[in-house]
Amino acid sequence: MAFLLKGAHVVDPQAGLDGIADVLVEGTTIAQVGENLSCEGAEVIDLAGMYLVPGLVDMHVHLRDPGYEYKGDIATETRAAAKGGFTGVCSMPNTNPVTDSGAVVAYVKSRAAEVGACHVYPAGAMTKGLRGEALSDMGDMVAAGVVAFTDDGRGVQTAGMMRRCMDYGKMFGKVFMSHCQDESLVDKGQVNEGVASTRLGLLGWPAAGEELQIQRDIALAELTGAKFHVQHLSTARGIEMVRRAKANGLAVTCEVTPHHMFLTEDDITDAYDTRLKVNPPLRTAEDAAAVIEGVKDGTVDAIVTDHAPHADWEKAREFELAPFGMTGIEASLGLVLTNLVSTGAISYARMVELMAVNPRRILGLDPVRVEAGSAADLTVFDPEVSWTVGADGYESKANNCGFAGVALKGRATYVLCGGRLTLADGKVR
Ligand SMILES: [Zn+2]
Repeated sequence: MAFLLKGAHVVDPQAGLDGIADVLVEGTTIAQVGENLSCEGAEVIDLAGMYLVPGLVDMHVHLRDPGYEYKGDIATETRAAAKGGFTGVCSMPNTNPVTDSGAVVAYVKSRAAEVGACHVYPAGAMTKGLRGEALSDMGDMVAAGVVAFTDDGRGVQTAGMMRRCMDYGKMFGKVFMSHCQDESLVDKGQVNEGVASTRLGLLGWPAAGEELQIQRDIALAELTGAKFHVQHLSTARGIEMVRRAKANGLAVTCEVTPHHMFLTEDDITDAYDTRLKVNPPLRTAEDAAAVIEGVKDGTVDAIVTDHAPHADWEKAREFELAPFGMTGIEASLGLVLTNLVSTGAISYARMVELMAVNPRRILGLDPVRVEAGSAADLTVFDPEVSWTVGADGYESKANNCGFAGVALKGRATYVLCGGRLTLADGKVR
């Protein structure tokens, strides 16, 4: 199958592209990039007025499969990814059974190959059962195709265990990704500790509960020489810690979410909307501003969603009883275009770095460039289309998007994943 993508504004800082061009896709790869291309028999798609970029990758997604398919599964959540403009996701290991052995990794990969609407790059647990007590089967998982290690959903509670994970696992060359949460400080914390916890009468989840583990793991990365990545970083001090680690030449990277940039603890009102209960919690306006500053100045490497589907009945409970997490993969691109690109805070090229180039680099995946010979993983979006999050439902099995009802400008229209059209005219195929 061949596709001739005509007249889009192509942005790819890796290939030095920022202008109108045609892209010819043949089979699974890009065959040609240039002006006035033609190809006998190719399906021509007119992309005038749209942008074409290397396929977006969300390196922090919960697919809930195996074990929690009532929340979401590999078919539904990869369809949500395609709808949001993504060609690949890194799946988190807090499944049931936990993704801590090669067998579970093999299941995720084979299921994704069978029913997935995008590439799935599985992350494996650092410790068995995410319990922080014994090493997972790292070598077995690497052989099965895992791209990174993380105990996401939980912090590894002791420095000694984290050091053993890094010391042993660094021989595989994979990145160690930390959900930073000191349980002795956070305990049953529900919302950011301070004004919000006092105002809402809920237990506080202090910024220090996150920052202590960020600082600890930066120190352990320096001690062991392992590659270290901070997941869903949410505080101003955390950003400063990563900024300093990078200035010191350490192999430290970090990711942030749209909800920690564009929502704050002030958005949680006495309506106690459980969609806004996330982990780490929505922080202060000062924290959100510092996170955005990190996105602008290069401290932040990637924008991810921490897409976390839950069943309606789970989120319909009291705030203290509802599970943490919101979905976001269908809104992420629109949120970034609306709040960061169209405001001039970042350029399209910087957005491509944050959402396509750097996630692949951190996960050790092959780069995707808009040039001949590269894999045909491509995202096309219309920067002018106005839409409202959730107004026409979700591809995700879940409805717990914290941005529901928000008006955005810019949305994915076409996605090619390995040369296969997974989104056409805004509809998942
Ligand atoms: Zn997490």
